[in-house]
Amino acid sequence: MHRRQFIRDTSLSLGALALLNNNLFASLLADPAFKIRMLRNDVGIFSERGGTIGFLLSKKGIVVIDTQFPEQAGHFIEEMKKQERAQFKLLINTHHHGDHSSGNIAFKGLVPKVVAHANSLANQQRVAKERKTEDKQLYPDTTFTDTWKQKVGKERIKIHYFGAGHTNGDSIIHFEHANIAHMGDLLFNGIHPFVDKSSGASMGNWINVIDKTISTFNDDTIFIFGHAADPEKITGNREDLKVFKNYLEKVLEFVGREIKAGKTKEEVLKTTVIPGLEAWKADGIQRPLGAAYDEISTGK
Ligand SMILES: [Zn+2]
Ligand SMILES: [Zn+2]
Repeated sequence: MHRRQFIRDTSLSLGALALLNNNLFASLLADPAFKIRMLRNDVGIFSERGGTIGFLLSKKGIVVIDTQFPEQAGHFIEEMKKQERAQFKLLINTHHHGDHSSGNIAFKGLVPKVVAHANSLANQQRVAKERKTEDKQLYPDTTFTDTWKQKVGKERIKIHYFGAGHTNGDSIIHFEHANIAHMGDLLFNGIHPFVDKSSGASMGNWINVIDKTISTFNDDTIFIFGHAADPEKITGNREDLKVFKNYLEKVLEFVGREIKAGKTKEEVLKTTVIPGLEAWKADGIQRPLGAAYDEISTGK
């Protein structure tokens, strides 16, 4: 499968389409709504809007990791229906955020099992209650606290939980045979991360999580990331993990020094460049700065 272009629900007749100027039509063709890329064996990724979807096309059924938003999940499902064996076997959420789990609802009645970490389920339920969106959720029916395994055809799936990081419910899903690991939002590649303190995130422990990930996997592992500055870098290797670990360390060191120097949170949030992280653009820099400030100043 390569780039696919998809014009959905167009209300334009062919005649009206012919009236569109060629430039507009060319730009529609050049800018597909979504991209599907196979990585290794029968494992691939789907990107449109939100956290990257990972999938396994097994003879025993399709395994899906994360679901973006309902509209994008619908596009993904339509593509999967074109497969020879189009039954969904299993859906796994890396964590509860809406750009990874709100598309779950599109799988209602299509997938027999939905798996996530127990904290991810609790977070999803809490946020849905707060936002009064409970009727728009498809919740995990199977949870775990440390690890979870299932064999699907020739592939073995193992889920690892290494503690709080981006939230307190992020897990890493490993297709062991293909040696591909979906990290969800435990790795923002080249973008300042969102740190969800209201869902138990920990910048300090996030470093430990990355360390455990580096030691659990090997140089052959292909990692899938939730988000990347460059769409081509939505997958990567252990080197990318080391870069992100260094990033987290540098943010915490910098903010720790600023707090010791008596800086207020407002002053720290005005930072545009963190020493040692000059290559990172300022866009979104307040997210990790604010989280680090709260974490260091309150001890949690
Ligand atoms: Zn995300
Ligand atoms: Zn997230």
